[in-house]
Amino acid sequence: MTHPHRLPCTALGATLLALALAAPGAALAGKAHEHGVVKLDVAVDGATLTVTLDTPLDSVLGFERAPRTPAERRAADEALSRLRNTAGLFIPSAAAACTAAPPEVKAPVLEASPPAQKDGHADLEATYTWRCEQPAQLRELGLQLFARFARMQRIEAQVAGATAQKKLTLRRPAGKLPL
Ligand SMILES: [Zn+2]
Repeated sequence: MTHPHRLPCTALGATLLALALAAPGAALAGKAHEHGVVKLDVAVDGATLTVTLDTPLDSVLGFERAPRTPAERRAADEALSRLRNTAGLFIPSAAAACTAAPPEVKAPVLEASPPAQKDGHADLEATYTWRCEQPAQLRELGLQLFARFARMQRIEAQVAGATAQKKLTLRRPAGKLPL
């Protein structure tokens, strides 16, 4: 059974957050998330740059269930193809000479046999990996996420570099993440 999503997204997100805080054990099962907010984990480990994107499906597609019409199916395919286009989303510092490996995009509710949904919400996770010839030159990661996905409002980024870790919040229309 899917949730009709009649509540405003932020109100629903806040309610879920409150529920998650009240019952930590339920947080994992409930998949609390806030529409419009994307989590980005960026790690530099030796010559490897890894970016993990964790987003409510709503923020890339506008709904969080299996497509029901040909138009929704096309919208889902279009969103997935944008997410699989690494070069169209992320641009590491050119001097670092990074080469992207094929990304991994996981959105269970968009697959052929979607799992049953308990609360009407669904997430998408994508992992991007590069091998860099000059990893010391990785100064920033150019981002096209806000440009490609109109529903994204905020990116909560966690950066684990060679020497330090930091957390950063980027708001639309930010296009760069310092590393
Ligand atoms: Zn949701």
